[in-house]
Amino acid sequence: MASYKFLTSKSWMPVLRHVSKSHYFQTVYLSSSASVYDKDIKEYKAPQTDTTNVVKKLQRPPFGKNLFLGKFDNEILAFPEVLDKERLQMLDEMVAPVEKFFEAIDSKKIDAEGKIPKETLDGLKALGLFGQQIPTEYGGLGFNATEFARIAEITAIDSSVAVTLAAHQSIGLKGLLIAGNEEQKAKYLPRLATGEWVAAFCLTEPGSGSDAASVQTKAVLSDDGNHWIMNGNKIWISNGGIADFFTVFAKTSVRGKTGEMEDRVTAFLVERNFGGVTHGKPEDKLGIRGSNTCQVFFENVPIPKENVLGEVGAGFKIALNILNSGRFSMGSSGAGMLKKLVGWSAEHAINRKQFGKPLMEFELIQEKFAKMAVTIYAMESMAYLTSGMLDTYEEPDCAMEAAMVKVFSSEAVWNCTSECLQILGGLGYMKDYPYERFLRDARILLIFEGTNEILRILISLLGLQHAGKSLSEMVRKVRNPTANPGFAVKKMWERFRRNPQNPSLNLHLESFLHPSLKRPSELLEKRVLQFEMAVEILLSRHGKEVSTKQMDLRRVADVAIDLFAMTAVLSRSSRAYCIGLRNAEHELELANSFCVDADIRCERLISELFAGEQFTQDLSLKKIATTIFQNKGYCAEHPLKQNA
Ligand SMILES: Cc1cc2nc3c(=O)[nH]c(=O)nc-3n(C[C@H](O)[C@H](O)[C@H](O)COP(=O)(O)OP(=O)(O)OC[C@H]3O[C@@H](n4cnc5c(N)ncnc54)[C@H](O)[C@@H]3O)c2cc1C
Repeated sequence: MASYKFLTSKSWMPVLRHVSKSHYFQTVYLSSSASVYDKDIKEYKAPQTDTTNVVKKLQRPPFGKNLFLGKFDNEILAFPEVLDKERLQMLDEMVAPVEKFFEAIDSKKIDAEGKIPKETLDGLKALGLFGQQIPTEYGGLGFNATEFARIAEITAIDSSVAVTLAAHQSIGLKGLLIAGNEEQKAKYLPRLATGEWVAAFCLTEPGSGSDAASVQTKAVLSDDGNHWIMNGNKIWISNGGIADFFTVFAKTSVRGKTGEMEDRVTAFLVERNFGGVTHGKPEDKLGIRGSNTCQVFFENVPIPKENVLGEVGAGFKIALNILNSGRFSMGSSGAGMLKKLVGWSAEHAINRKQFGKPLMEFELIQEKFAKMAVTIYAMESMAYLTSGMLDTYEEPDCAMEAAMVKVFSSEAVWNCTSECLQILGGLGYMKDYPYERFLRDARILLIFEGTNEILRILISLLGLQHAGKSLSEMVRKVRNPTANPGFAVKKMWERFRRNPQNPSLNLHLESFLHPSLKRPSELLEKRVLQFEMAVEILLSRHGKEVSTKQMDLRRVADVAIDLFAMTAVLSRSSRAYCIGLRNAEHELELANSFCVDADIRCERLISELFAGEQFTQDLSLKKIATTIFQNKGYCAEHPLKQNA
C-alpha cells in the first residue's frame, strides 16, 4: 500500500496574504467596540480588505472536467486554506455584527408585506454588504470568493434580503467587475459599493428564458454613432423596481466573419436616468416575497456608446460568465440557512414528547437529522472547495464545479427544509412558525440562476466536450468499425481487460487522506475509473448525437456531482482530523456516510450508462410521455371505470 502523505494546504499556496494597515486598524476598532453597531449603524465602518497584493497560483487543469477522462488531481484532496490567520480573524469579526443585524430582521413581516423596509436596506448598506466583492479602491470590501461565501451563510437567513443582495452583486454589477473597463468601473462601482445605487441583471424576456441567446430586446446605433437606442421588455427582474443601474442584454447587428450582418447579443450598462426605462408592478410570488421582481421596459433608451460592456456582439459570453461565477455561493448560503433550521428542529425534537418519549429517541427522527447533517456537510464542503479554487487558481475554470454546487445545494435545501417541517409535524405547517416560509422561499433555488435541468445539461456537456477533444480519434474509429476492424476489436478487448465492474485501483487516493478514510476513498476511486469508461462508451455509442440524449446527460451530471461531492467531503474531513479540529471524528462519520450513499447512487447510474437505453427504463418513459402529450394529460382510465 502506498504510504500516507497528507497534503497540507500549503500545496494550495500562495494564499492571499497581504492585509493593509488601515484594514487592521478598522478591525481593531470594530472588535474593541462591540457596541458600535448598537449605537448607530451609520457609524459602523465595515472592514476593508486590500487585495492589491494578492498573489495567485498558476493555472491548473480543470478538476471537474478532468474527471470525465478519469484524471484525478490529488492536490484537491488538501482542503484549501485560502485565508491566512489575520484575514480569517478579520472575517470572523465581520461575522458578529452581520449576524446581529440579521437576527433583528423581521422576516415574517417582510414576507407578509412583500417588501423589505428602508431601514433594513439602509442597515445592509451601512454594513458594506452591497459592495462585498467590489475592490477596495472603489469603496467595496474587496472580498474574495471564500469571504463572500462565508457572509452568504448569514445573509441567507432572510431569503428576500439574500436575493436582493445577490441580484445586486452576484449578477447585477458582476459584469462590470468581469468585463468593465477602467472608466466604467471608476464611474459606477463607488456608488454601487455603498448601495447608493442598486443594480439589476436583465436577461430574461417573455420569449427567452432558458434559451437566453434568443433575446428580442434590440439596440441599434444612432445615426450620429454616439448612442445605442434600446427597445424591449425584460421580465422577472430581481431589483427591477428599485435599481438605478442595469446590466442589459440586447440583440445588435454586427458584421460576421463572412462579412454579412448578423444578430449578436451585446451587454449594455444602462442607467435608469438615461430616460425611457420603466418597470411594472412587483410580481406576487410564492416565496422570496420581499425581494422586488418586476418587468422592466426599455423604450427608445439612449445609451452612450461608452456603455457597451466588453465587445459589441460578445454579450452572451459575458452573461454566461456572470452566471457561472456566482453560483457557487448557493452552497454556503443554503448550508447557513439549513444549519439554523436544523438547530431549531433539533430543539423541537428534544422537547416534544409523543408515546411517552421525546421525538429524538425515535429512529426515524434520528435518521432525518443524520441525513440532513451529511447533506449540509457535503454542501459546505463543495462550496468552500470551489471558492478555494476560484481564489487560488489563475483564471480558474470552475463553471462546472459552480454549477454542481448549485444543483446539489438547491435540491438539498428544498428536501431538508421539507424534512425540518415534517419534524415539526402540524406546527411546521402553521404560519406562526418559519418552516413553511423557508420551504416557499427555497423553491426558487431550483429555477433561477439556470434551472437545474439546464445546469445538468451544462455540466455533462462541458465534461463530454472536454473528454471528446482527447477521445475524438478513438470515437471516430470505434464508430466506424468496418473501416477500422482491428481497432474496434482491440478497443473491445481493452475494455474487457479493464474490467468495468471492478477496475483495478491505481490512483491511490487513500495515500493522500487520513488512513481512516481508506474505504470511502476506494469507493470514490472505483467510481472515478468507471465514470471514465462510461464517458468513453457514451461518446462511442452516440458520437455528436450525445448532446440530444438528455436522460443519459442527466445520469452523467449526477455521477459527476457525486464524485465532486465525495472528493470535497473526503478532503475536508481528512484535513479536520489531521489538524485536530473539534468534532473531527464526527466529520469522518459524515464524510464516510456521504460516500457510502453516493457510491450506491453512482453504481446504479453508471450501470445504466454502461447498459444503454435498451436496458433501462428510458424507452418506456419516453413512450409514456408521448401518450400523455397525445392525450394532453394523464390518460389512464379512472380506477372506478367499468367496461360497458
Ligand atoms: C423570482 C425570480 C427572479 C428572477 N430574477 C431574474 C433576474 O434578476 N434576471 C433575469 O434575467 N432573470 C431572472 N429570472 C428568470 C429566471 O432566470 C428564469 O425563470 C429561468 O432562467 C428559467 O426560464 P423560464 O422561467 O422562462 O423557464 P423555461 O426556459 O420556459 O423552462 C421551463 C422548464 O423547461 C425546462 N427546460 C427548458 N429548456 C430545456 C431543455 N433544452 N431541455 C430540458 N429542459 C428544458 C426548464 O428547466 C424548466 O424546468 C427570475 C425568475 C424568477 C422566478
